[in-house]
Amino acid sequence: QDVVNRIAASEIVLRPAAAIKELLENSLDAGSTSIKLSIKEGGLKLIQITDNGHGINRADLPLLCERYATSKLREFKDLSSMRTYGFRGEALASISYCSHVEVVTKTREDGCGWKAHYSDGALVPAKAGAGAEPRPAAANDGTIISAEDLFYNVPMRKRSFKSASEEYNKILDVVTKYAIHNPHCAWVCKKAGSNMPDISTPVDSTARANISLLYTPSLANELLEVPLTTLKPEMLDAKCRGWVSNANSSWARKGGWMLFINNRLVESPKIKKAIDSMYTAYLAKGSNPWVYLSLEMDPAKIDVNVSPSKAEVHFLNEDEMIQAVVSAVHDVLKGANT
Ligand code: ADP
Ligand code: MG
Repeated sequence: QDVVNRIAASEIVLRPAAAIKELLENSLDAGSTSIKLSIKEGGLKLIQITDNGHGINRADLPLLCERYATSKLREFKDLSSMRTYGFRGEALASISYCSHVEVVTKTREDGCGWKAHYSDGALVPAKAGAGAEPRPAAANDGTIISAEDLFYNVPMRKRSFKSASEEYNKILDVVTKYAIHNPHCAWVCKKAGSNMPDISTPVDSTARANISLLYTPSLANELLEVPLTTLKPEMLDAKCRGWVSNANSSWARKGGWMLFINNRLVESPKIKKAIDSMYTAYLAKGSNPWVYLSLEMDPAKIDVNVSPSKAEVHFLNEDEMIQAVVSAVHDVLKGANT
């Protein structure tokens, strides 16, 4: 049974960057204004995430890594919501099935923090002979989650990773995108043991300032803002905002792409392709724009009928939706170039 669970888990947590995406979303859900990541061997040896969010109640620790049994699910909150789309109460469970998880957490109300270890969905002793119950521990307000030896028990998956630096670059890419989308939060990402962070942003920053820091000031300076726009027709019930390169910019040849839907980083190859073609048509030659878009929409209009491991999103009114996003961006380009 555990073998089946491990393989299933390794198909949800496809690689270190996918685990990190889930962990940092949990930290953001907890209201954190500081999120720090420390990474060993591209995340395959160690992922450690430290936040200053609301922490986890002692009473919730025994079931924390049990599938579908999380505190959030017990409240039965927003079951159709995009926030938990694809991974409803499954992220920590899956990570615990394919790594050694340690949690240190403290709520503001609690006098002390608690430390617990997990494996295969359940609490385990820190070392042989000890009890599995959470133990009191010194801690700051917030949560530190460490996942060690990712895929140690799924050798086939582990062998499929050729290079730690490639995995680390994927991690930096995910953290960069979340830092741009969540500039209220201070972000740090570094290799464990290094005191030179590869990502470091201040608290209460802005999307544009973080783009300047994490890409280049020249890109940030030439980006056009897509102001908060209600997409048309109104029946789509969706809003869009973001930052996009000007059709004439030098960055139009380098390119970059990130799409958030209801604050979750997702893939929508169809929207990407439609935006790329719009730029190409606008320029009358090939192009590769830099595009950051954030959509807010009714989660019920997102087609959730896709596999949980895929971040790929489809919409119920897909053609109208794509057309509406393209025309919102097109309006901004036109406005800037006439
Ligand atoms: P989900 O986010 O879908 O509920 P997860 O497995 O990702 O499932 O997380 C389980 C639960 O653990 C969350 O609902 C939340 O209550 C709690 N949790 C996880 N990480 C944190 C964190 N960093 N701070 C506070 N609570 C957390
Ligand atoms: Mg989660």
